[in-house]
Amino acid sequence: MMTEEYEPHIEIAPNVHLIRGENRARFPEANSLLIDDEILVLVDAGSSLRNIERTVQSCGHAMKDIDQIILTHFHVDHKGHAAEIMNLSQCELLCHPLAKQGIESLDGTVEFYGIKGHQYYSSWRELIDIRLPHVVEDYQVTGFFESGKTISFGETELIPVHAPGHTKDHTVFGINGTDIVFLVDIDLTRFGPWYGNAVSDIHEFRESIQRILALEPKVGISSHLLNPIETNLRERLLQYLAIFDEREQRIIQNIRQGINTIRSLARVPTIYPRIPMDAYLIFEEYMLEKHIDDMVSHGIVEVDGEEIHLK
Ligand SMILES: [Zn+2]
Repeated sequence: MMTEEYEPHIEIAPNVHLIRGENRARFPEANSLLIDDEILVLVDAGSSLRNIERTVQSCGHAMKDIDQIILTHFHVDHKGHAAEIMNLSQCELLCHPLAKQGIESLDGTVEFYGIKGHQYYSSWRELIDIRLPHVVEDYQVTGFFESGKTISFGETELIPVHAPGHTKDHTVFGINGTDIVFLVDIDLTRFGPWYGNAVSDIHEFRESIQRILALEPKVGISSHLLNPIETNLRERLLQYLAIFDEREQRIIQNIRQGINTIRSLARVPTIYPRIPMDAYLIFEEYMLEKHIDDMVSHGIVEVDGEEIHLK
């Protein structure tokens, strides 16, 4: 694997540091934030422990000084090292009420992913064991944040804005207002929106992007891009939103060519550019199912048994 040198952290607002994930913050890594205020707060814990530690130390603190972890949603690449950090710092752990079950145990995570008993479950479990062995430990959420209710850390404030769709608990955060928004997994990557879980929803995802557009943020911080988006953020969000329609068009084209079951559409694949391991077929199938449901509700297709037909 190519490794590229870049600063492990950059300051994005006074006392607010973006901790970059390894490998350009691509899954299974993700960026985190460190807020170095009256209390020391980590927002998500999915960057490498090395980068988290280097950031904490460069602010003159030790890992045991972390007072609080806030998790944006239950995903494994975001909860990351939360269990280890809680063990060594005895910190609090806050999340959205809808995230609790998915965060506290691997069983809960599996339930939210919707992969219990799936034929490719063992492939997903293998991915976890190889790439994310630190996320299998159970632990306790100690409190909740409330969407729209400002959290103050001293001089710094976060405004949680519930933005479901990616997952039902997914929350983005305004940093000292809403000019700078931690967009989390409305991640503005070229791949586009991801909604491959039982608890994902296309309609909600679209609405959440619209809600963020209405806030007219100037700077967007993605969980999976190294740098803040400081120019053309509105256009970037609109391009990202348009990917739902582009995928729908690809599905329609494939159905026209007789590729008209979820299984056969997934084998192409239709949404992922490629399927690196069987676990990704689960996500491809979930995303396709959500499109088909959405297209049925809009009268674009009808479903007869396993077959999907254009209307
Ligand atoms: Zn996620």
